[in-house]
Amino acid sequence: MKVFSSDSIDSKTIRTKSLKSKQIDCHLAGTYFTLDQIPGDHRPQIAFAGRSNVGKSSLLNKLVGQRKMAKVSGTPGKTRSINFFSINNRFYFVDLPGYGYAKVSRKERESWGKLIETYLTESEQLVGMVLLLDCRREPSEQDLMLAEWLAARKLPIIVALTKCDKIIRSKLSEKVLATEMQFDVEVIPFSIVSGIGKNELLGSITYLVEKNF
Ligand code: GDP
Repeated sequence: MKVFSSDSIDSKTIRTKSLKSKQIDCHLAGTYFTLDQIPGDHRPQIAFAGRSNVGKSSLLNKLVGQRKMAKVSGTPGKTRSINFFSINNRFYFVDLPGYGYAKVSRKERESWGKLIETYLTESEQLVGMVLLLDCRREPSEQDLMLAEWLAARKLPIIVALTKCDKIIRSKLSEKVLATEMQFDVEVIPFSIVSGIGKNELLGSITYLVEKNF
């Protein structure tokens, strides 16, 4: 059953020339713990969100062609800041804190949740979100909630199904279809091991950004 219907992206309609990793100049523009620390800036923002350990840092590093831009964590649940990465001084990748890690205290969980919610529901420069889901797991309530917030604002979502080198191809096809049906958005299988999904995701992101210039 489809639960969301936001402004989904049809990659076939992408006419803009897609960014390639090697054309990306990327640097950390800021690390913020509260939203009022984020400076006013009119450049478009693409948020990246997912539960802790889903592979978000690995995906970000792969997209920008750097090994250590985002920190691949040995300790899940540690990152609690919102990190802004400037891409070609033109737009931002916004790395949101991972959620759903059981060992984090309730108080901390609530404060990160509030930070993510306020950012996703209020940021004026946000033009879309890449929601990362592990291809071997069902979406959590938090994953669904994030998608709902974006859908309520009619902002597009792209689902990246991570770690898809870990399941066989037929299962992956089933998972892609099921996720497309459930979210009614573009679903891109992704793996840092095989490299699958990188160009598709960069293509969809380029489209989103260009649409907002
Ligand atoms: P984050 O907490 O969401 O930022 O996740 P990380 O990027 O730190 O990755 C968590 C773990 O998953 C690390 O051990 C990564 O090496 C591993 N990982 C991430 N992406 C992939 C992938 O595409 N394939 C495989 N096999 N492992 C991955």
